[in-house]
Amino acid sequence: MKQTIAIVGGGACGVASFIELFIKIHQFGLQDSIRIDWFEKEKTLGYGLAFGSEEKGHLLNTPTDLMGVYAKEPAHFTDWVADRKTRDSDLVHGEGEWNDTYTARFLYGDYLAEQADRYLAMANRTGISVCVKNTEVVDLDQDKDQYVLHDSAGGVHTANFVVLALGTPKPQNFLSFRQYEAYIPFPWPSRPLIEKISTSEHIGVLGSSLSAIDTIMTLEDNGYTGKISLFSPDG
Ligand SMILES: Cc1cc2nc3c(=O)[nH]c(=O)nc-3n(C[C@H](O)[C@H](O)[C@H](O)COP(=O)(O)OP(=O)(O)OC[C@H]3O[C@@H](n4cnc5c(N)ncnc54)[C@H](O)[C@@H]3O)c2cc1C
Repeated sequence: MKQTIAIVGGGACGVASFIELFIKIHQFGLQDSIRIDWFEKEKTLGYGLAFGSEEKGHLLNTPTDLMGVYAKEPAHFTDWVADRKTRDSDLVHGEGEWNDTYTARFLYGDYLAEQADRYLAMANRTGISVCVKNTEVVDLDQDKDQYVLHDSAGGVHTANFVVLALGTPKPQNFLSFRQYEAYIPFPWPSRPLIEKISTSEHIGVLGSSLSAIDTIMTLEDNGYTGKISLFSPDG
């Protein structure tokens, strides 16, 4: 009987896990003994929280050269961008060579989605059994030598191995602030920021690093002209 590997999450780590598993199954001819069940709660694979942001101002914090999804081809993303974009594209930033540019995060999501599709097609062609399930896994139990996954629609799935690639959880601090209408606990996805904040209000941002920069970019790119105060213990 086939062993089942469940991957929960279809963002960057889920895609990288799937590609590595595909390569090993194919390389060692394990098509008849392993199958993959891949769970993703959203409709599309590849994007996740960071790379699913629709804001053009939300950039990768690492140059293209560090972002290739294939373990042995770190420059793969650089080549992918260079093949598809020109340097004056407003999705690619930086003065140096292609490998030292910084792209919009959703461009990287497009790249991951394309690699996921490519490897799903190859799995289909080479007889590797992969089932993508667009559902949220809400619980995980162990029953003797297998895992039991429960999904949000009441479905029950079993697996011999489980890869959890769930991404960044929402923070659970400052819970007492949640009673206030004007408090926004998390800057992604950015829609609530755009919808809740009028373009001239005074905004306080707790923190002054990458999440704060994302917040400022979201506001500026959507016509905000008011005052923004950043609070940070270390400047
Ligand atoms: C705002 C932000 C910006 C970032 N910028 C960068 C960057 O520029 N460069 C960089 O290298 N890293 C960046 N990171 C880190 C980045 O998130 C990780 O490098 C990478 O996305 C992590 O991949 P992941 O698969 O763990 O998470 P994600 O890419 O978030 O994917 C998780 C996936 O799992 C799905 N999922 C979650 N729970 C369930 C469930 N119960 N059932 C089914 N599906 C589920 C989600 O829908 C999502 O698609 C950033 C992180 C954040 C939060």
